[in-house]
Amino acid sequence: MNPSSLYIHIPFCSRKCLFCSFVIAVGQEHRREEYVMALVDEMKKSQGQRIETIYFGGGTPSMLDENHFDILMNAIRKNFSFQKDIEITIEANPESINLAKAKFLKTLGINRISLGMQSMNDRYLKFLGRNHDASVSRDAYHMLREAGFNNINLDLMYAFPGQTKEELEEDVRHIAELGSEHLSLYTLTIEPNSRFFATQMKLDDDEKLAEQYVEVGRVLGEEGFKQYEISNFSKAGFESAHNRNYWLGGPYIGLGVGAHGFDGRRRYWNTPNLQDYMQRIGSGVLAIEGFEDLTDTQLSMEKVLFGLRMNEGVSEDLVPSDKAELIQRWIKDGFLLLEERKLKTTDQGRLVLDELSSRLI
Ligand code: SF4
Repeated sequence: MNPSSLYIHIPFCSRKCLFCSFVIAVGQEHRREEYVMALVDEMKKSQGQRIETIYFGGGTPSMLDENHFDILMNAIRKNFSFQKDIEITIEANPESINLAKAKFLKTLGINRISLGMQSMNDRYLKFLGRNHDASVSRDAYHMLREAGFNNINLDLMYAFPGQTKEELEEDVRHIAELGSEHLSLYTLTIEPNSRFFATQMKLDDDEKLAEQYVEVGRVLGEEGFKQYEISNFSKAGFESAHNRNYWLGGPYIGLGVGAHGFDGRRRYWNTPNLQDYMQRIGSGVLAIEGFEDLTDTQLSMEKVLFGLRMNEGVSEDLVPSDKAELIQRWIKDGFLLLEERKLKTTDQGRLVLDELSSRLI
């Protein structure tokens, strides 16, 4: 199954945000070069593949310096084939962006930036344990524009305990008014390996979260964004090609500590331990810690589950026959609709999509 997307995980962070459950490495900046060289070695094992999108995720990829990016981009050019205008995204945190770095990233051919703003409300940024405030975010955004980036995603988090409707609307407006091309929405969740988990923090109830979700969609609609996935909004023509490949069940190569990959049948994941990753790659072996071969039924079901998250929907032919009755009931109840043989989630269905998905599995 070809072509693929390429995901490269850069785990370094200057500190751990309180909600974070990603594979990260704090206080390990001195290992950046060593890590970049390990990535180059790992990359060689996928040599010759054609790729359609490249994504540097983290962690904080923007913590790498110019030399590291040079090494990585040269290795990518050497090991993979791709079109000149390939979508190349990098995640960046506001405090790690300056104008010189932004200009340099642009010269490398990186053409999409995902900026981890999360909120423009300083009280909530502090609550999340972020390293930046709203003015740093605003400055970083304008520097990216000045450097010539015309495809910027902003992350927006909501559902903070006690967050009022007014606070939420103000936050969404402040972020939307910056004028980015894309906006990704995240609900605050308390993950077991996050610092919030230890505090036994309670989140607001599902009814309030559903109201907030509707509110965010309403404001973003007024600000000119179009929803194309349950948590993603964009201006016309700026949907993320990289994420779309995931949602369509396409293959992807995952490089780096904790990275996941998928070849169209097998899903695999690398060790989440930085030291272990370096040692394995250094000894010339793969860093894969586990894998799962998906059956035809599992592959179809994944496509259905992802397809129902997308506004374009999913072919009804992919629904396993033993779920057909359930789907018909949800169509009757107004959670789904069938349009030109495609199953789509309605506005009402989106509010309970997690529940619908868990009943489909
Ligand atoms: S949320 Fe992002 S910036 Fe914060 S610790 Fe996690 S990966 Fe790093």
